[in-house]
Amino acid sequence: MLLESQYGESAGYTIALIIEQGAPFYDLGVFRERADVLMWDVYAETLSGGELEKIQFARLKSTLKRIWESGAPYREKMEEAGLSPGDVKSLEDLEKLPFSSKDDFRKNYPLGMLAVSRKDVVRIHASSGTTGTRTVVGYTENDIENWAQLVARIATAAGVTREDIAQISFTYGLFTGGFGLHYGLEKLGAMVIPVSGGQTELQMSVIMELKPSVLISTPTYALYLSELGKEMGIDLPGSSLRVGLFGAEPWSEEIRARIESGLGILATDNYGLSEVTGPGVAGECHLQNGLHIAEDHFIAEIVDEKGKPVGEGKQGELVLTTLTREAMPVIRFRTGDLTSITRAECECGRKNARMSRVVGRADDMLIIKGVNVYPSQIERALLEVAGVEPHYLIVVDRRRGLDVLEVWVEVSEGLFSDDAMVMRAFEEKIEAHIKSTLNVRASVRLKEPRTFDRTSGKAKRVIDLRREEPPDWLREELRMRKGAKGEHGSAHLV
Ligand SMILES: [Zn+2]
Repeated sequence: MLLESQYGESAGYTIALIIEQGAPFYDLGVFRERADVLMWDVYAETLSGGELEKIQFARLKSTLKRIWESGAPYREKMEEAGLSPGDVKSLEDLEKLPFSSKDDFRKNYPLGMLAVSRKDVVRIHASSGTTGTRTVVGYTENDIENWAQLVARIATAAGVTREDIAQISFTYGLFTGGFGLHYGLEKLGAMVIPVSGGQTELQMSVIMELKPSVLISTPTYALYLSELGKEMGIDLPGSSLRVGLFGAEPWSEEIRARIESGLGILATDNYGLSEVTGPGVAGECHLQNGLHIAEDHFIAEIVDEKGKPVGEGKQGELVLTTLTREAMPVIRFRTGDLTSITRAECECGRKNARMSRVVGRADDMLIIKGVNVYPSQIERALLEVAGVEPHYLIVVDRRRGLDVLEVWVEVSEGLFSDDAMVMRAFEEKIEAHIKSTLNVRASVRLKEPRTFDRTSGKAKRVIDLRREEPPDWLREELRMRKGAKGEHGSAHLV
């Protein structure tokens, strides 16, 4: 056994079980003794090289065996590719295996992806369905335990301890955010306040009265709380809050800076998706330089549009293989999320690979007159202009065969003016900045402060009228705009 030399023969059997079954290494109290920095699972978080690969391979083999023996749908994919678990003889052979995606979940809706009997499932969650049909995922008791361990890891990495009081402002329900963070923070021993999403007045009074030190929410919601605090005359930067764990939507460094100053906290990013468990797949440490991936539970690959692996540090689509999931293991799951991976060691001492913050989704890419643009790039360009608020909507349409890009953006209170000339000049300034940084022409329309809703969990930032129907409010706005110009017609940009 690889660890016998360090921990004696007696530990060998337990360690073998732990590797095979995917139980947390934390179960072996002995590894806690190695803690000289704040880590939840020192052994797992400092695994690297051959030691890590050995564990990954053992777990990959048992995952494939589970899929094969249960007859889960992925077995058919392997058979179609002429492969059986025996053909995977090393980690390098992973590349031979077929990809899976959200489509597999949809085709087998709701619970056809199970690799265990239904009676072994103790919980289900479902994806929000913002980009298509809902997908349902199941968890065994061990899956729930592993998940809590994974979340305890990222929370510890962000600097949360059992001394902390955590306010969870993620929605509880089918969404994995609320329950995921809840179980993990309880596992860690923090005091959890399950406020759930919305109910902003309650959120504020909880902050003022129960004095939480940790905030859990989407970045959009954290930003909203900070703005509201300012309006209500509440000194949030001076409040008890000291650290935040934010996830469930892509965000930028510019947004991070605004959350940190608005709430007076250290804001950390974390990543996960329901199809591979939920939050806890990766998370930033207090140094905020990339998200540490829990590589003893997941194998992460980065591939290009054709599915070919790209080198370290190169941006591409994240593909994840679960190594310990029992109920619904996934092999080479195409997340659609764009990121890159580095193996360079972090100064915090964790040896796991780190992924960069997700810059967007592969299918979010907008092609405007042949130029590829990600909404996150537009966001970055916008926020580089002083006075622009991080609340915007990108509207794309096709008019007379040409792509039209509009960016509706809020400006800060002080800058909003009734003088059309002043506003137009400001719009032109933003348009010029977008043109010079992204090489696309956008028409910018300034909106009054607080035009866009920030109360809902995930912000919808893009409406592509080339592919989707406008929501009612937008249809109305576009109709009025046409009316003003004396035109008639369907809801399109003019
Ligand atoms: Zn680190």
